[in-house]
Parts: sequence; structure tokens; C-alpha cells
Amino acid sequence: MGKQELLKSIPAVNDILAEKKSEKIKNEYSRNDLLEGIRYVTDKLRSKILADDFSQTNFDQDLLKTDNILDSVNNYLKNIYQPEMSSAINATGVVIHTNLGRSLLADSAAEAVNNVAKHYSTLEIDKDSGERGDRYSSVQNIIKKLTGAEAALVVNNNAAAVTLVLAAIAEDKEVVISRGELVEIGGSFRVPEVMEQSGAKLVEVGSTNKVYLKDYLNAVTEETGAFLKVHTSNYRIKGFTATVDAEELVNDAHQRDIPVIEDLGSGIIFDLQSYGLPYEPTVKESIDAGIDLVTFSGDKLLGGPQAGIIVGKKKYIEKLEYHPLLRALRVDKFTLAALEATLKLYRNFDEAVDKIPTLKMLTETDLKVKKRAEKLLSYIDKNDKFILEIEKDTARIGGGSYPLTEIKTYVLTIESKLISSEKMAYKLRQTEMPIFSRIKNQKLIIDLKTVQESEIELLAGEINQVLREEL
Ligand SMILES: *Cc1c(COP(=O)(O)O)cnc(C)c1O
Repeated sequence: MGKQELLKSIPAVNDILAEKKSEKIKNEYSRNDLLEGIRYVTDKLRSKILADDFSQTNFDQDLLKTDNILDSVNNYLKNIYQPEMSSAINATGVVIHTNLGRSLLADSAAEAVNNVAKHYSTLEIDKDSGERGDRYSSVQNIIKKLTGAEAALVVNNNAAAVTLVLAAIAEDKEVVISRGELVEIGGSFRVPEVMEQSGAKLVEVGSTNKVYLKDYLNAVTEETGAFLKVHTSNYRIKGFTATVDAEELVNDAHQRDIPVIEDLGSGIIFDLQSYGLPYEPTVKESIDAGIDLVTFSGDKLLGGPQAGIIVGKKKYIEKLEYHPLLRALRVDKFTLAALEATLKLYRNFDEAVDKIPTLKMLTETDLKVKKRAEKLLSYIDKNDKFILEIEKDTARIGGGSYPLTEIKTYVLTIESKLISSEKMAYKLRQTEMPIFSRIKNQKLIIDLKTVQESEIELLAGEINQVLREEL
């Protein structure tokens, strides 16, 4: 058959519609979807036949059968309506993995989200008067209690928090920042660019590795709106360095009526040293040092939902509350419900560490991780084509937190002559609950640090499936 004949053999739309299968598709979707699908599939066939490199012998004429066309239509529609975002298994060992959704919520936080999703809520209403209330009041008191701050506010994320603070405090004014703190986080958040957006003018002082109090003070002009400190959460400058103590900076700034702002990044609530992690400054320490406004993320070390939390002096928080940008950056009821529930777990630190998944993963012993690795291994079908081993390794905290800290972990390694690790990793990502792993020394690594106990059986099932396909 020549090209023209093949083109003529593509069934007419009406003939396709007359098929029983068409009726089924129409009932599941709609007549419009069915027609769109038929048009899509037949157009594809037409271009395939008309293509310059078209080859008679390679063309499968079965594709022109109405039945097969309708199968393709069904697949086309299924793809469109199938959810793209699904839950996934994090076997990378990166605890705060931004691309995999950062922090998992504690059970009580997930429940709180579910509740406000299915019922109306007291989001912004006063129970006593029945009148409009305050959107932020549910979380403000607990944040103040945990950080020792006079006032608090919550916005969409920490980038929004920094933007709002600068816009409200230092628009059209100069903001002095150390060159060593001009950080970029995850590619799209660059401190200098955010400052520009807010309308503040950046004045850089000091050098990459050293900054002194006098550098800040020498930069002060009539136009100075604030001093900004940024916690270099995702890198450290080591060696010959000097930074300015927050308390000292605050003292001299306040003598000149200049507010001091700090972007803490992760922002931890209590010191995790007794749980085996290195020292990181807490939010309370910044407040105690007299910083006027501190911002940090809700879904990094705090272990809650995506949010930007702002704490500090009442007079400045009030300015933010009346700023028009706040309306554009405001958080929804799901965020507030999850955040409130997460924060309430902090009334008891041991409870927080036990119930907030991010803190639990960061603080649990490697022996517990080893137990999960052994359990996973026990569920995997053994054969001589795959070498499976449990090894000691190091996991990472991620999210730009504790940049130099390695945490002990146990991993399951998989190696085979039948399939490359890259291909295995690819196949594991294509499963119903996609699995994200890592590769090291040509071996596939399943890091149990970030795999939840409840996911082990499912994970084993998917691994077995992928391995079986190669035998
Ligand atoms: C992560 C981070 C941000 C951005 O926070 P988001 O909540 O992702 O918007 C800003 N500043 C610092 C120092 C950070 O570590």
C-alpha cells in the first residue's frame, strides 16, 4: 500500500464513533474528550505516514484498526487525567529534600489539615463576637512563646518573609549586608535579587571572609534603612575569618535608630546538640541578642508545612501587618492548621523529636536505621544475579541546613551485571509510588535514613518487581 492508500485507510471519525468502545470512553470522560482524542490519534497517524522518513515495511497497519485507535484514545485521555504529582519514597538519604517536598508532617499536623479541608473552620472569625477575626492569631501566641519574641507573623515561605520585611522596613532605603552573607539558596533565591525586588538598596561591606563592626558603621548614611544578617546556612567559610557578634551589632545599630534584620534560613527552636547534632543558632538566641526581625522557614528544621515565619519587635511586625504585600503573601488554612499542630508538639522537646518526622530522622541512631535496612533486605527475593548488601554510609540533612554535617546511616546496595545502576534507578522512579535512590561507586544505594517504617514492604515489592523483570 502506498502513502495515499494508507491515508485513505484511516477510519472516518463517524465510523470510530459508531464503535462500542467509543460509547465506553464517552461515558467515562465526555463526548468532547472522545472527539479530541480521536482527532489527536488520527492526526498522529497521518503525520507518521506523511513523514519524510516513512517506511512502508516498518509501518504497522494494525494501527489503523478502529479498535487500536480507540485504545490509543483511551491512553491519551488516561494520561491527561492521571495525577502527575504522587507520593514518593525518599531513599536518597537527604532528609530535607526540597524536590521531594521537604518535611513530612507529624500525624497531628496531617490530621489538622484533613480536618480543615473537610469542614469549615475558624480561620478568620472571632468565636465570641461572631465577627471577622484575625487570620494569624492561632499561631501567633505559640510562636511568641517558643521564641521569646514580642510578636509574630506567618507568610507563604521564607523568601516571601524576607521580601516583606525589606519592603516594609527598608523600601527605597539602603540595607547594609556583609559580602560573606550574600548567599544563593537552591538556585532561585539570591539575597541580592530579593532585596532588589523589595525596593531596598544593597550596600555590601567587608570581604568574603571577614567583616568587622566598623565596616557596618562606616556604611551608615542618612539613607540607611536596616542592617541585614543572613545565616550562611548552606555553606561555611573556614579558616581566616571574622564576623560580627549579633549583640554588638544590635547595640551600635540601635544607638543610631537602625533596625537589625536576620534571615536565619532553617531556624531551629531548641538546641539539638544533646541529640547528637552540631551547634546551630536557635531563633530564641537571635531574639535574645536583640535582633528586631528574624525570619525562617516552616518546612526545614522546624519540620512543618511550607511557610515563612517572622518574629520580632511588635512595632515592626505591626508595620508588616499593614503592608499591602501581606495580602499577596498570605498563608492558607492548610498551612495554618499544619503549622499550629506542629508548633504545639514543641511544648515538650522529647515529644517534638519523637513525633516530628524531620527531627526524628535527624536524631535517631544509626542502629535503628540498620534495623530498617535488615527488614528491607529480608523482604527481597534473593538470587545469584543480584548482589545485595547492607553497608554503613553517610546521609545528609539537606535544605541548606547544617552544611558540613554528615549523619550516620545504613543503606542497602544493589549491584548486578544484568542491569546498570542508572537503569535500575530509572525503573524504580517509574513505579506506582516512585522511588528515589542514589548511586555510589556504580552501585544503587537505597538509604534507609529517609525511608519510613511503613514504606518498607511497599519498597521491597517494587524492588522485587524491577529485579524480576531483568531475570
Ligand atoms: C532556605 C532559605 C531561604 C528560603 O526559604 P524558603 O522557605 O525556601 O523560601 C532563605 N534564606 C536562607 C538563609 C535559607 O536557608
